[in-house]
Amino acid sequence: MSDPLVSRMRRFGTTIFAEMSALAVRTGSINLGQGFPDTDGPASMLDRAVEAIRSGVNQYPPGPGLPQLRQAVSEHRRLHYGLDYDPDGEVLVTVGATEAIAATVLALCEQGDEVIAFEPYYDSYAASIALAGARLAAVTLRPKEGRFTFDPDELRAAVTPRTRAILVNSPHNPTGTVFTREELAVIAEVCQERDLIAITDEVYEHLTFDGVAHVPLATLPGMRERTVMISSAGKTFSVTGWKTGWVCAPPELTRAAQTVKQFLTFTVGGPWQLAVAHGLREELGWVAELRAALQSKRDRLMSGLSGAGFEVLKPSGTYFVQTDIRPLGFTDGLELTRRLPELAGVVAIPTQVFYDHPERGRHFVRFAFCKKDEVIDEAVTRLKRLG
Ligand code: GLN
Repeated sequence: MSDPLVSRMRRFGTTIFAEMSALAVRTGSINLGQGFPDTDGPASMLDRAVEAIRSGVNQYPPGPGLPQLRQAVSEHRRLHYGLDYDPDGEVLVTVGATEAIAATVLALCEQGDEVIAFEPYYDSYAASIALAGARLAAVTLRPKEGRFTFDPDELRAAVTPRTRAILVNSPHNPTGTVFTREELAVIAEVCQERDLIAITDEVYEHLTFDGVAHVPLATLPGMRERTVMISSAGKTFSVTGWKTGWVCAPPELTRAAQTVKQFLTFTVGGPWQLAVAHGLREELGWVAELRAALQSKRDRLMSGLSGAGFEVLKPSGTYFVQTDIRPLGFTDGLELTRRLPELAGVVAIPTQVFYDHPERGRHFVRFAFCKKDEVIDEAVTRLKRLG
């Protein structure tokens, strides 16, 4: 049989995260590829989920999400960012940020519309945009003075009459850039001048370092009414397997996303929702400790990777660090990461797969540092064999 997969999905194959995690398992390598922590979230949250299951929260929750979680999300947005979202009509609970992004793109894009995203970009963006029959227009982030950033003129030049939205991920996976207020102001200006919707992926909102603050695009003047703000519990509370996320947006945008979301998954598991509501209210102290621990893990991995001969770019957020492999004599990150288990017993992610222009990212490899110190140290010891 010829490939039964619809043509618009054929170029996607298996995600790099699945490929590289399978490679780690198969070769017994240390997995600094796919970003997931090797420790659990707050104990009280885990208890809350168990208690919910034991006490009968086991049938379909309401489509928009349980009121307890919508309320907790709304309070959290107000407390942290001074943003007011009505839990009834401006908050939608989704199966992770992944579903929130897919539902939003599918709800807002006609066939042939264009969505701007900054490359390297998280892989689900391209797939969601392709599913919608829309086109991704990539604006490249390039290292400048030690951090990845974009050229405002390239952003402006990427807008066409078909552009519907800009997808903004900050803190940014996979570069670790946290957009500054000035960078966000450029994006806000383009959105307003060209009447575009902003879709923001803020799943790393709490994971920023060195006192750098995450600024939601929706807090900039004129942006709340045109922004679909997306986040999830996975990174904030080290529960990536819970797949509980949310959309905050004006009523008509929330309704649009919900109309699609109903037919993707209808709703999200109730026990997770109650546990995440508890986490947002009671466990932000735990999150502050996580952030501090991650900053020291970042420094630990960065100094180890430098010692192993990589050029390291310092991230201000997320739990990923970008390295340039050329000082070690390598030029192709995909080739290197496929051989890395055999060369060093470590798995990492080739950054080039997140570009529409892979040649611009060929020499970058991403390592995750959301791992126990001893795991980071052992990985570094092994990577020193490369030099
Ligand atoms: N967000 C995680 C990462 O970037 C992986 C998520 C996934 O496996 N799809 O590593």
